[in-house]
Amino acid sequence: MKILSVNAGSSSLKFQLYDMPEEKVLLSGLMERIGIGNSFYTIKVNGEKIKKEKELNNHEEAFKVLVEELESNNVVDSLEEIKGIGHRVVQGGDYFDKTVVINQEVLSKIEELSSLAPLHNPAAVTGIKAAMHVFVNAIQTAVFDTAFHQSIPKENYLYALPYSWYENYKVRRYGAHGTSHKFVSERMNEILGRTNTKLITCHIGNGASISAVVNGKCINTSMGLTPNAGLIMGTRCGDIDASIIPYIMEKTGMSAKEIDNAINKESGLLAISKKSSDSRDIEDGIANGDENCILAQKMYVRRIVDYIAKYYVEMNGCDAICFTAGIGENAIDTRRDVINELSSLGIYLDSEANNVRGKERLISTKDSKVQCWIIPTDEELMIARDTFKLL
Ligand code: ADP
Repeated sequence: MKILSVNAGSSSLKFQLYDMPEEKVLLSGLMERIGIGNSFYTIKVNGEKIKKEKELNNHEEAFKVLVEELESNNVVDSLEEIKGIGHRVVQGGDYFDKTVVINQEVLSKIEELSSLAPLHNPAAVTGIKAAMHVFVNAIQTAVFDTAFHQSIPKENYLYALPYSWYENYKVRRYGAHGTSHKFVSERMNEILGRTNTKLITCHIGNGASISAVVNGKCINTSMGLTPNAGLIMGTRCGDIDASIIPYIMEKTGMSAKEIDNAINKESGLLAISKKSSDSRDIEDGIANGDENCILAQKMYVRRIVDYIAKYYVEMNGCDAICFTAGIGENAIDTRRDVINELSSLGIYLDSEANNVRGKERLISTKDSKVQCWIIPTDEELMIARDTFKLL
């Protein structure tokens, strides 16, 4: 059975077509600059990479072009073969604790939740509506980034703020990257051969979050109401003293929007290194003795270690720490720096094993009290699996 996994941005469309349950990728690709001129797309199919420029005025046109490519590359004979389409949706609020089949009511709820994810949910709705027009007979599902975190207990999701903010404005921790934390924790349990486990999953990419997962259920995560909370990220500050915001607003006259931009796009590694948000540039800077990059890396690692330590205590121990996403899978030095800070917990790095990028591997020593693993994430596959299960 063929399942399409879709991630719609406001001007982009990322997709991957799977043959299920074999989980074989038949085609994958990305369409960019949809509706803003000079659009183009890249597709990987039959071991080939195709890049084409093509005017795409909206997401419906993008899906129609995808269908043409599917047919002309003989990936499908007819559209009817695609039985399910799984859509990535960033914010599911406290309505959705799992993947659901999309109907009118679900669509309205996703739209309603746009106030909590103003950049992301409207794009997902656009993608869903366009897919519904093009793939009329397929079942469409919504896979929420927040769903995996819905098992977090109230004492961990509530902020100690006026209670009416929670009641009236839904201010609480929702988390993000849930699809990735779920994928990685399920894979880790598979490797460990049991589900009664305590795991710390570190999704460290440009955006970054850490979760505590007990017996397959998330009990805490570092992102909050928005993805700004928790770890230091490429351009996000992560946890800060909230009073800095009114202080700076008064000092500078910056608006809420300008502050939002500063804490999400001008902070993090970019701000401290004064150079780049990309961890590869930070690594280069450190190699050249750049003081700002050295400081940025120290702060970055400190925060990750803080969260691992916090969740270790919260879970009363841990079976495995998993590293995933761009930095978690590839940044050898960052993994080394993090694990070396954990020796007081009896956690030790196997430097030789750690000398690898993007491969599933045990990277702790035999005598380490907690296993440390690289587990490459695959959010698209998780979306396809969930959709297949629902079908
Ligand atoms: P997102 O999906 O949040 O945009 P990714 O998971 O793709 O982010 O991660 C992007 C980050 O991964 C960047 O900071 C990039 O520098 C880092 N990264 C990718 N490859 C490597 C590598 N070989 N070495 C170090 N860092 C890497």
